Amino acid sequence: MRVKLWGTRGSLTTPKSPAEIEARTREILYGFLNSGGNQLSDVEPYLRTLTPCHFGGFGGETICVEVSTKQQQIVIDSGSGIRSLGYELMKGKCSQGQGELHLFYTHFHWDHLAGLPFFVPLFVPGNKIHIYAVQSELPEIFRTVFQKPYFPLTLEQVDAKLEFHILKPRQPFQLGDLSITPYRLDHPDPCWGYRIEADGKVFSHCVDNEMKRFTREALGEDLPLYQGIDLAVMDAQYSLFESMEKVNWGHGSAVGC
Ligand SMILES: [Zn+2]
Repeated sequence: MRVKLWGTRGSLTTPKSPAEIEARTREILYGFLNSGGNQLSDVEPYLRTLTPCHFGGFGGETICVEVSTKQQQIVIDSGSGIRSLGYELMKGKCSQGQGELHLFYTHFHWDHLAGLPFFVPLFVPGNKIHIYAVQSELPEIFRTVFQKPYFPLTLEQVDAKLEFHILKPRQPFQLGDLSITPYRLDHPDPCWGYRIEADGKVFSHCVDNEMKRFTREALGEDLPLYQGIDLAVMDAQYSLFESMEKVNWGHGSAVGC
């Protein structure tokens, strides 16, 4: 199983300010000189020693997560990160109207939804997009997103064929070789995490989540989301101090995880 984070930021996208870009550029230039570089031909080899986070930092786009195996692919949430995923998908079947995609939602706060109208595969006739959530108002929410004056197109004008699926809480849903089970998270407005199993591995997607319940008893029927997992995406929106200031806002800190 492969997990790719196309967006990780909570609440708002975070484009870099000119001051932040200047600071990064300075850091890279100092690093170049410290590495012994002093001519043009040293530049490319030095840049190849750096990782993407040296240039752009971490995060920036709001949440969108791709989970895939050799035979199945799903996407969780459509924050602004889904825009880049859309361009990637357009290199394949989606560009010919032969794509079939599976998009799961945790909840519908703006940071999990805002990239949806900019997801290019939606606008290619022939593509089929399955949309899943526990929340039964799912079709109405999509109708709200695609309407004037918020967006120039209505849901009827979206070219891809959309199919909505309402999931049952805490019951596994099988899609190819992926077993996907929604569990309730601690967040204002209902929000559901996903335990995803395939290839003998378990991935838990636990965002947004304040983690107010942290004993077995308190977690009760939602405990399996956190048990026997190989990898988890957790909510670390706040510093420890912020999390104490913002009780009941629905987010956690890295220390809380
Ligand atoms: Zn939220």
